[in-house]
Amino acid sequence: MSRKPIIAGNWKMNLLQSEAKELFEGIKSFVKDYTAPQLPTVIIAPTFTSLCAVNSVKCDCGCGGNKISVAAQNCHWENSGAYTGEISVAMAKDAGCDYIIIGHSERRQYFSETDEMINKKAKAILAGGLIPIICCGETLEQREAGITDEHIATQIRAALSGISSEDVAKSVIAYEPIWAIGTGKTCDSVEANRVIKMIRNVVKDVAGVDAADSIRILYGGSVKPSTIEEQMSQSDIDGALVGGASLKADSFNEIIANTMKVAV
Ligand code: PEP
Repeated sequence: MSRKPIIAGNWKMNLLQSEAKELFEGIKSFVKDYTAPQLPTVIIAPTFTSLCAVNSVKCDCGCGGNKISVAAQNCHWENSGAYTGEISVAMAKDAGCDYIIIGHSERRQYFSETDEMINKKAKAILAGGLIPIICCGETLEQREAGITDEHIATQIRAALSGISSEDVAKSVIAYEPIWAIGTGKTCDSVEANRVIKMIRNVVKDVAGVDAADSIRILYGGSVKPSTIEEQMSQSDIDGALVGGASLKADSFNEIIANTMKVAV
């Protein structure tokens, strides 16, 4: 089964609106020369405050703006109400998002997000017509203790609990070993592929073979232009969630270009 690759940039808590627009323009001007099926799905996740700014420079004029999808970096599962500091799925959609990242390890670690919260968010995102990018991954201690697979399987089963097979099929998972995020240490591609295959088997178990064949599972953790070709050459890695290297147009565009060399 051929799955369309995704290259997603997570800008985290970086860039003022003018800087976000400038970087978005730099990516637009690269992608404008390419079309699907060669061009992967390109997704940018700016801060909430820059969502409208980047959407204001998306257009159909041939500049490439319509070739980039926008993601929020988080959301609340309720539609509205007394949740100071949060945004709902409808608000993210209203700001132009097609995707929402949930369960990033930084949110789990610094904001105490639990598997149960991530499951509620995934359900709310799908009910709102958007696509969740569900992050999972192990700490170095868990890897060294030999419980990587068990830990990730638990995260994925919890995140997908109660979600229909059709909705699972259109969702996205990002496997991001925590020890590889922002550290410059990438997970060996063969090992990343092994874990991603294991995740696909868990998806098969909870949502069936069609969902497992369709769901796109990304690798994240210090992805660079020099690592992406080998990562994309693996059987089960469907793309990348990129942090640091997505903050410069040159490196992010090179990641897209190198992805296209492999996934034609
Ligand atoms: C991330 O934060 O999702 C990430 C993978 O970051 P980096 O590429 O900087 O490791």
